[in-house]
Parts: sequence; C-alpha cells; structure tokens
Amino acid sequence: MAATLADDLTPFSGVQPDGAWRDEVRRLARERDAVLLAHNYQLPAIQDIADHTGDSLALSRIAAASDASTIIFCGVHFMAETAKILAPDKTVLIPDARAGCSLADSIDAAQLRAWKAEHPGAVVVSYVNTTAEVKAETDICCTSSNAVDVVRSIPEDREVLFLPDQFLGAHVKRETGRDNLHVWAGECHVHAGINGPELAARAAANPDADLFVHPECGCATSALYLAGEGVVPETQVKILSTGDMVTEARNTRATTVLVATEIGMLHQLRLAAPEIDFRAVNERASCRYMKMITPAALLRSLREGRDEVHVDATTAARARGAVQRMIEIGKPGGAE
Ligand code: SF4
Repeated sequence: MAATLADDLTPFSGVQPDGAWRDEVRRLARERDAVLLAHNYQLPAIQDIADHTGDSLALSRIAAASDASTIIFCGVHFMAETAKILAPDKTVLIPDARAGCSLADSIDAAQLRAWKAEHPGAVVVSYVNTTAEVKAETDICCTSSNAVDVVRSIPEDREVLFLPDQFLGAHVKRETGRDNLHVWAGECHVHAGINGPELAARAAANPDADLFVHPECGCATSALYLAGEGVVPETQVKILSTGDMVTEARNTRATTVLVATEIGMLHQLRLAAPEIDFRAVNERASCRYMKMITPAALLRSLREGRDEVHVDATTAARARGAVQRMIEIGKPGGAE
C-alpha cells in the first residue's frame, strides 16, 4: 500500500545518476524483461532513463500494450495500480511503494460508499487519481481532458458525484452548468499551492507570455477570471492536461510560457521546445511523493524486484470497467 502522511518518507539515496548507473539500469531492465515508464513529474534523471514518459493514463495504456513481462512504473502508487488493473498478467513494480498521493488519499472506499448512500442513484465519476478500491466503487473514471465530456454523457436528470479533486470538479461544474453535480472537497497539496494572486502577479510581470494551466490547479478559476477581465488576453490562457501541454509547447508562437503545475513538467516541456523560456508559476510546486523515485530507488527495484503492486482480482475487475468507460468517452489521454 501507499504511505500515509505519518509514515517515514525519506527517499532512498546515495546513488548518483551517472553513466555507470545508466548502464546498470539498462542491463538490469533487459535481464528482467522490463519496460521503464516515467511520469512527467519524475526527477529529470528518471525521465531521461525511461523507455517512455507521459501522463498516467498514457503510461497505463503503454503498459497494457507492451510486450515486456515486467512494468517498472516510476510514478506514484495509484498510477502503478492503474497499470496493474489494465495489465493484470504483468508484474508491476514501483521503485518505492511509499510514494502516495495526497489527492488519492483524500477519499477512501468507505467514505465513497457513505457518500453514495446519501445520493442513491447518483452516477459516480472519479478522476484517475484514486485508489483501486475507490475506482471499484466508481461508474466512470475521467481524466482532466475528458472530465467535461464524461459528465455530459450522463443524462441531465441523474445526480453526479464527482471526486476527489475540488478544482477539477469546479471546472467541470462551470463548463457543464449542472446544478445536480456534487463535488468532493479533496485537493492535491501541490496544486492547491499554486494560487490566483501568485498567478496574477506572474502574468502581470510577463505580459507577452502564454499561461499553461493544469485544471487541478487552484489557480485555474483565477486564470479564466483574468482572461475574462482582459487582464490576460484569453488566447494566452491555456487550460491543458499534462500530455496536451507538451503538444501545445510544440505549437505555440510564444517565446515565454508560464507553467502552473508541478515543476517536474518543465523538463519535458524544455525538451519538446528548447527555444521557449518555460517558467514555473510557483517554483515550490514540487510533489514530494513523485520525487521519492530516486536513482537509488530505481536500482533497488531492478535488483530486488521491489515493490510489487498487487490488486485483488475482484477489485481489479470492477475498477477496470470504470477505467474502460473513461477510455471510450471523449478525448483520450490527458490524465495528470
Ligand atoms: S502532484 Fe498532487 S495529485 Fe499529483 S501525485 Fe503529487 S500529490 Fe498526487
């Protein structure tokens, strides 16, 4: 299981990501018949050694389609679980199982069951940042790209329970105009730390910059508000999933881009468009859980076959239905 905040979260350390490390990682990966997947918020050295980088859903799809018998998932625990749900016959390893997620931890299956009991007949829509047990209680999972389409696919007269992210929920509620959509008050400690006043100050200091905003950020509402007020031209504010940020980086004509999400994202953006000056809205927006996948943790994982991710067959089957419905609706990809 992933860690709780009370646990010791000191990352494994003492290994430099040098040439010898890279050779050893590649050798061990071949020996294990393993594919290395790294989330966009991982440390640069981990992103650079991976076979694939991307958002959580894109990586889960790659995991399911891969010929490799072992998946090394460099990300947080719910992501490795999602890969296991979609690829139940493969061995899925996460280099440090203590790498949890404050957003996924903001609701558990018992809380969701109690919420459902208060709203009988409601359709449950969960963002992918949830545990396998919560997904098993969910009707449809969603990503930040297709959350609006998923909710629009539900008949108007049905109540909707949207969880766990309150900012993504507010975004969906505004876009769909639904009064019968209830939003769980969960949040990610990293995204919640990117606030409106900070964004406004950075936008004012960089009037020609594009603003890339992730909808889970607490600043998304402010960004839209600023655009509506004409403080920032509407065309400069782009609400994007992490996957879409990379695509947009290749297409924008801006020379400076302010990025409102976890700072690990800057590495992929700079690789995609080295000529653009990418700046974090908040340099402190760093996920401590993502940064637990260190060079030492990856080496340990490959050497010792740890930490293996298990999801029991019944939970996995129920959760898989919710994840597959997500894949069928709206735009693919676009998870955190
Ligand atoms: S950045 Fe936030 S939502 Fe993403 S893994 Fe870290 S705690 Fe979870």
